[in-house]
Amino acid sequence: MGCALSTSTARSGYRNLSLWHETAPDDWLPRPALPGDRDADVAIVGAGFTGLWTALYLARAEPSLRIVVVEAETAGLGASGRNGGWASALFPASHASVARRSGREGAIAQHQAMRDSVDEVVRAAESEGIDAHAAKGGTISLARSEAQWARARAEVQEARSWGRGEEQVRLLDTAEATDVLAATRVRGATYTPDCAAIHPARLVRGLAGAVVRRGVTLYERTPATAIAPGRVITRSGIVRAEHVIRATEGYTRTLEGLRRRVIPVYSLIIATEPLPAELWDRIGLRRRETFTDHRHLIIYGQRTADDRFVFGGRGAPYHFGSRIRPAYDRVPRVFEALRSTLVDLFPMVENVAVTHRWGGALGITRDWTASVGIDRGSGIAWAGGYVGDGVTTTNLAGRTLADLVLRRHTELTRLPWVGHESRSWEPEPLRWLGVNAGLQAMTWADREEARTGRESRIAKLVSPLIH
Ligand SMILES: Cc1cc2nc3c(=O)[nH]c(=O)nc-3n(C[C@H](O)[C@H](O)[C@H](O)COP(=O)(O)OP(=O)(O)OC[C@H]3O[C@@H](n4cnc5c(N)ncnc54)[C@H](O)[C@@H]3O)c2cc1C
Repeated sequence: MGCALSTSTARSGYRNLSLWHETAPDDWLPRPALPGDRDADVAIVGAGFTGLWTALYLARAEPSLRIVVVEAETAGLGASGRNGGWASALFPASHASVARRSGREGAIAQHQAMRDSVDEVVRAAESEGIDAHAAKGGTISLARSEAQWARARAEVQEARSWGRGEEQVRLLDTAEATDVLAATRVRGATYTPDCAAIHPARLVRGLAGAVVRRGVTLYERTPATAIAPGRVITRSGIVRAEHVIRATEGYTRTLEGLRRRVIPVYSLIIATEPLPAELWDRIGLRRRETFTDHRHLIIYGQRTADDRFVFGGRGAPYHFGSRIRPAYDRVPRVFEALRSTLVDLFPMVENVAVTHRWGGALGITRDWTASVGIDRGSGIAWAGGYVGDGVTTTNLAGRTLADLVLRRHTELTRLPWVGHESRSWEPEPLRWLGVNAGLQAMTWADREEARTGRESRIAKLVSPLIH
């Protein structure tokens, strides 16, 4: 992450990053960089959702705190500005794996906190005057083969075993599912009301403005090279603070000594031109429900406020050494696969133009578990490892980090993910081999299921390793 771009190039570069960047009402003019050494009470590294939610809740709770955020490029440059816009209650670890560490009650509390956080995202944006184009229509997950239908039923059964009733997740039969979303080969679906579709760049840029209005100092184009107890080290100076918060997610490798903590894995997205009303009458998503299906290699979509499809998925490779490059955001093979999957789902969009293509790096820890925490000895705190479920989880992280920094013992600081530490990833080339083998296996599993109609054996073997 260099800062070699001139201001005007940076501005047009930022705007061209994605549909969201282009359509956020923003001049993308970077704020000034850190001018030299300075003192603060809390120093946050990274101005994505994690860093900005944390700054917001801290500033709300203690307006006199001196909070500094240093951002390598500009707020919302990372995953927070580019994602699929699902503010869902999905937590990046299953109930069972949370329960193994923290018991049944802990797993249930963690999930309930996520459900509450969906509402908090919408409420907090509104109360800060941010129009994030939010619509809480829930999520429909289609089943489009017998194997997917079996997984859909198993998912609902599993939810019931955790005390989650019809009001949280339910099965839809073919007619009900098609009424919500008229895709091809619909056998049924699961539906949960716990998701809001949002415009992520509107939200993240709105949060940046909100924290600055509340007195937080945000230095942009100021990459940190290292964090240490009481210090954030950058090329243009050192920020000294009692608390230092790492909020760098997929980019964590840019910090000295943290190369193997969180790896960047790419997710890619396409967006169409706005669709005419008569096409949406045939397709559905009347309440802007977010959508996916029960395949192995994740796909995700939403109907935007201006009536486009935004549709994304995995499938891009992990890059050797956890490298991140702008070029990795654009993989023609994956964009084409996304377009043909969208047309396979909705043949009526065959002639609709794809107007935007982009991607970004999400962050994955070795045990695929997100966490938030603080080391009392060093004053260093962190949050991350959200995989593809960070939009809402970052809000929970921000509120939790604020409580931890302010030494408040609350329901949030007792949640199971607080203080969890994932071990480091393997050195290369093992990391590269393992991650790409896992991604490839998921693609094969989907192909096998499409061909045979039965649950894939490959998926059964690999799933436990990557969930
Ligand atoms: C394509 C894509 C689609 C996704 N879709 C969804 C979705 O629909 N729903 C969902 O819940 N989640 C989704 N996610 C995941 C979600 O976007 C992330 O989990 C979340 O935005 C992470 O927020 P963050 O603030 O922790 O990280 P980021 O938004 O990545 O922010 C990190 C920030 O830190 C800055 N930074 C990094 N290193 C340094 C440094 N050394 N010094 C200073 N600053 C630094 C970066 O420039 C960046 O601005 C998606 C992710 C991607 C990439």
